[in-house]
Amino acid sequence: MTDCLFCKIAEGSIPSGKVYEDADVFAFNDIHPKAPTHVLVIPKMHVATLSDCEDPALLGLLMDRVRMIADDVLRLAPGYRVVINVREGGGQEVFHLHVHILGGKKLPF
Ligand code: AMP
Ligand code: ZN
Repeated sequence: MTDCLFCKIAEGSIPSGKVYEDADVFAFNDIHPKAPTHVLVIPKMHVATLSDCEDPALLGLLMDRVRMIADDVLRLAPGYRVVINVREGGGQEVFHLHVHILGGKKLPF
């Protein structure tokens, strides 16, 4: 998609603090971190929201990469939180599907 912030980050035309990339996903530091570690994981394919994604293979791949990035790249051994905000009512501000990984401190719920 041409006018999508996260598509541009994934293709490298807007800079980001990249923490991981492969053929299918891109992960980078959130610009306004809400925890000591706050990383966003996105599929490279443009999908606007979780509600729009009816591809179990893509969702499975995305969650597998989230687990791998949190455990093996970020090494959040004590644990972490995984969040997906869905549409306006869920607090979604950027309409390219993304998974927040939050960690680095004990997180209140
Ligand atoms: P959400 O509210 O779930 O749509 O989350 C969007 C997230 O994207 C927010 O936590 C923002 O801080 C983050 N964000 C917005 N612009 C950028 C950017 N250019 N680089 C990194 N993170 C960003
Ligand atoms: Zn996009």
